[in-house]
Amino acid sequence: MLNRLTAQKKNRGEDQYSPGGRTSSRPDRATIVYAQRCREAYPDVPIVLGGIEASLRRIAHYDYWSDKVRRSILFDAKADLLVFGMGERPIWEVADRMRRGENVSQLRDVRGTAYLVKNDEAKRHEADPATRAADRKTVVLPSYEEVVADKKAFALMSRNFQLETNPGNGRPLLQRHGDRAIYLNPPALPLEDGEGAAGSIAMDELYDLPFVRAPHPMYGGEKIPAFETVKHSIVLMRGCFGGCTFCSITEHEGRVIQNRSKASVLREIRALRRQGDFRGTITDLGGPTANMYSLKCKSEEIESKCRRLSCVHPGVCENLKTDHGPLIELMRSVRAEDGVKHVFIASGVRYDLAELSPEYVSELAAHHVGGQLSVAPEHVSPRVLEKMKKPGIESYERFQNMFACASKDAGKEQYDIPYFISGHPGSTMEDMIELALWLKKNGKRPRQVQDFIPTPMSMAACMYWTGIDPLTMTPVYTATGLREKKLQKALLLYWNPEQWDLAREALREAGRGDLIGRGPQALVPPESRPRGA
Ligand code: SF4
Repeated sequence: MLNRLTAQKKNRGEDQYSPGGRTSSRPDRATIVYAQRCREAYPDVPIVLGGIEASLRRIAHYDYWSDKVRRSILFDAKADLLVFGMGERPIWEVADRMRRGENVSQLRDVRGTAYLVKNDEAKRHEADPATRAADRKTVVLPSYEEVVADKKAFALMSRNFQLETNPGNGRPLLQRHGDRAIYLNPPALPLEDGEGAAGSIAMDELYDLPFVRAPHPMYGGEKIPAFETVKHSIVLMRGCFGGCTFCSITEHEGRVIQNRSKASVLREIRALRRQGDFRGTITDLGGPTANMYSLKCKSEEIESKCRRLSCVHPGVCENLKTDHGPLIELMRSVRAEDGVKHVFIASGVRYDLAELSPEYVSELAAHHVGGQLSVAPEHVSPRVLEKMKKPGIESYERFQNMFACASKDAGKEQYDIPYFISGHPGSTMEDMIELALWLKKNGKRPRQVQDFIPTPMSMAACMYWTGIDPLTMTPVYTATGLREKKLQKALLLYWNPEQWDLAREALREAGRGDLIGRGPQALVPPESRPRGA
């Protein structure tokens, strides 16, 4: 749905994942439709759901497109099992155990999977639920019916779900839907770094599989936009410990960073070199973030017990190892590889971490930026940043200065391009005006502006739907009307004449008509004709 519709619920002009960017090539709610077609074609074959859509709709969730709370996708898709998160470990175990003769209905303890249970089994869990963080019992979430009827119950569900996402201490979850329930095992354990121990599933092993690095031949060579973006990029790691509330990476990839070894990365670059269309430019060397490679909690024991949702908010945790040395070494090795001419970093730089490593910022500025570096402060208002769980704007400003100095030292004229979100929960018209004034003062004219979209199961989606911050259970202001969202976005684009009518309307609505005019303090000029003439 995210791929088809914009934040204003209008059809997008291009489908990033279809040949030729054509729209309408895939059905809406594809996982449900494909599972139903599979069931019709092969009625006796077990169906295991996987992928991001299944993963992020695994319990009751808010669906922006229908503006409703939907039940777990497992009820609609009528599959036997649902794999959530990155699926390698669960799929391996499911396939292995079925090969050894187990029936899919016997697979009840595979980490990273969920399945439906009948009333009797649900009642057993409900009669003896988890009460302490340390017990291994099942956490009973508010039922689907409760979260539909009561927004507080929805926020509680969201909070309790988030608290069980660390594979080291996450407990099983149960959520009743009518006379049945969905049961979720704890999340799968992360893959091991590099080559891992013998017999384990490790990152290198995965990336050493003989991928052909091409779309399926059935597409007949037609270009697929999303593939074109990534075909010459290299993934260094997976996972993110940032905990931004609007982002679903943590719900899917987890908080623990899982790294490839340098040897594995270089092997992939050699494979890339053998491809006919590679001309020596690596378009991105990164992952969910550009600079979390090899960053970890100082102790596995502490990490496995930790129940914080972010290692960097409200400040960088004292237990986090922030040494960028291994990443810098890897960047240098990739540049030194035969046949590599340019290595760009297009993944988002986590600037609160980058500012701790001047050497990293110098390396980045000197060798890995093609004129413009994208960074995502997302907002400037402390109230909004707190709801996003993003660092304060001062951190971005410090990084910006470091990057400017490093670029100058390298003799390069290049800039950072900040990204912002309008309409995020917590953001009022006053907050957007504060942001617009900051942009004006700093001479920034953002072209890439994201009108907030609540993606299923994120904490920000919970705030959007309920008006409650699930972490504090306190009210949070949210712009839910499409018109107000449009006005907030127009303030970010105050410099664009096409947005002036909307920006003026937003300013008048906020009682800030003083910012309409021709003086230096104004954000937009007055109408050229008298209003209503
Ligand atoms: S203790 Fe700190 S660094 Fe370790 S996992 Fe928890 S938040 Fe992250």
